Amino acid sequence: MRLSLLALAVCAGFGTTAIARAAALPADTGIDWTVSADQLTGLCQSSIDKATARIKDIEAQKKPATLAAGLGAIERATADLSDETVAASNLAQLSTSKEVRDASNACSEKLAAFNVQIAADPAIYALAKQAVPLAKTQPEKQLAKLYLEAGRRTGAGLDKEKREEVTKLFDQLNNLALAFTKELGEEQVTIHISPDEAASLSAEFQKTLKKDDTGYIVPVDESTAVQFMGNEASGDARQRFAVAFQKKGGEANVKRLTDAVALRDQIAHRLGFPSWAAYQLDAKMAKTPARALALLNQVDQASLPKAKAEVANLAQIKAASGDSSPFASWDYPYYEKQLEKTKYAVDEDAVRQYFPVTKVVPALFAIYEKLLSVKFEEIQPAMAWAPGVTEYDIVDVKTGKPLAWFFLDLYPREGKYSHFATFPLKQGRLLPDGSYQKPVGAVVGNWPTPAPGRPSLLSHDDVITFFHEFGHLMHDTLTQAPFESEAGTNVRGDFVEGPSQMLENWMWQPAILKEVSSNVDTGQPLPDDLIAKMIALLHVSDGMRWSGQAFYGSYDMKLHSSGAKVDPTQLWFDLKAQMTPFPAIPGTLPEASFGHLMGGYDAGYYGYLWSLVFAQDMFTEFKSEGLESPVIGARYRADILEKGATEEPDVLLREFLGRPVSVDAFYDYVGIDPKSVKAGSKKAAQ
Ligand SMILES: [Zn+2]
Repeated sequence: MRLSLLALAVCAGFGTTAIARAAALPADTGIDWTVSADQLTGLCQSSIDKATARIKDIEAQKKPATLAAGLGAIERATADLSDETVAASNLAQLSTSKEVRDASNACSEKLAAFNVQIAADPAIYALAKQAVPLAKTQPEKQLAKLYLEAGRRTGAGLDKEKREEVTKLFDQLNNLALAFTKELGEEQVTIHISPDEAASLSAEFQKTLKKDDTGYIVPVDESTAVQFMGNEASGDARQRFAVAFQKKGGEANVKRLTDAVALRDQIAHRLGFPSWAAYQLDAKMAKTPARALALLNQVDQASLPKAKAEVANLAQIKAASGDSSPFASWDYPYYEKQLEKTKYAVDEDAVRQYFPVTKVVPALFAIYEKLLSVKFEEIQPAMAWAPGVTEYDIVDVKTGKPLAWFFLDLYPREGKYSHFATFPLKQGRLLPDGSYQKPVGAVVGNWPTPAPGRPSLLSHDDVITFFHEFGHLMHDTLTQAPFESEAGTNVRGDFVEGPSQMLENWMWQPAILKEVSSNVDTGQPLPDDLIAKMIALLHVSDGMRWSGQAFYGSYDMKLHSSGAKVDPTQLWFDLKAQMTPFPAIPGTLPEASFGHLMGGYDAGYYGYLWSLVFAQDMFTEFKSEGLESPVIGARYRADILEKGATEEPDVLLREFLGRPVSVDAFYDYVGIDPKSVKAGSKKAAQ
């Protein structure tokens, strides 16, 4: 019987082996997704109370003789808490019931507060110090290191008075960040355009606009920017939009940012770091701001000439169209789109016909199965949180042993998480009885709901996103780390995207694109000419893209390493003129709406570029041996995925590559001749 359209779409034969199971609780995963809101609230509180009591007992010991009795016991208590609250903390994004979602949100807040308390607990910090000489294995040494680091970063090692001061400063910082983000969320900025100016916009876009007596009102935000700037033929209207956009947040947000930078600098100094950037990078792979800045600088030096050439090319197109005004930053998106339309025309709808979900999912599964020597088996009925969600076993091909479980929840539903992401539900770890706890994960997304009797048709972007997210899922589920804190994707924040960024390359290889595509009517794979156009389009604006990324990363890093008194607007104008083809527009305040700076990516924006360097370098191993080579795949699984965060990423990478990391593959990827970059400066990322 068909439960619903959603169920139909996902269950329409993905070609995996289905194993039936007796529908008796508890589920194999040990997770009960059927809890009511009241049950959830009770379970959440009792689990937190239990963990709190256990931690008190552990801390009351005089001096634990082993790591397992001290820090290891703390780690077990917090891991047990995570396992007991898997459903309670994740249903906020997944449940079909609003009541349950609300209860789950409340539980997540309690858990977050509990975790903040743990990280700043001086007694746990003392246990971490004690654990250093007791640690014997590499994972144990790393565990002590991670807890020490957390304590140092929260002020757990300071005396009571100083610790309270730091906590107060963190609270102030938090409030500034919330106010900054709130301002951007609530602010309604619009521009007015005349009917003449609206003529070049698509009819569909025009329909979304409010009208008045003299024309249209265009909201100025992220949802309209690409459409408007790419299609608006009037340079004057584009300029008005660009100026309004870059004034968002206004003086109020500039003030908040200035205050936040000063607070961050103060906190960093109190915790013993020379700057906020140094504080942030201490717990990252890059380690120092200088190392991150060196990479950003190199990328900029190499891509800026390319960006200038791209601008010159578009300026010619503009001149040829009869417009003799100088080429400005607001001209770029429009003429880029003109170039794409003429030279690289890729009909997205035509591409979709080749990616029916019934072909894509099993084909992508097959790639992962072959590469990593695993098998995915569908389990029926799925014991999940909503109809239409499917459940799978991951089995090791060599040993036949089950390793983990995962769920796919791929279509929109009211109240569900609205993006595409991997949820690490239950982490792997070694249990006290010596067995290994099988991890559980989920890929949660929002693909277009299929029309009755037809499979959902995906865009190339959808396919890439799924392959990327599935890469995170493999990282989470194939882990063999003994501690929860070191399992799967709990790696350094500037490394976590590396594996999935690497895997995106698969979805740009012509042979693989043919393998994963099948026209919904004819069954034919994607034709060569369409593939060639798709690939060419990807690199149209490489220079602009990468010099822009290098600029954003450098701005963020310099803002957070130049002391307590920085003029954020001046710094933006100086760097923008230096690092990109266009100076900032006079009178604007672009930093006032740069959400990353106040949304958790402070001194962290460089991470996008940073992890891409390792992604492309790891990819060279597969490139030389074949993209579906189980031999390299097995090494990747053993050296990167299974190890998780038991070692620093540098060490893992050196093992996998058999050499230090090189930036060359990244340059090759972004279309820069590595030889054009000064030979002596290539070592920044090593
Ligand atoms: Zn990702």
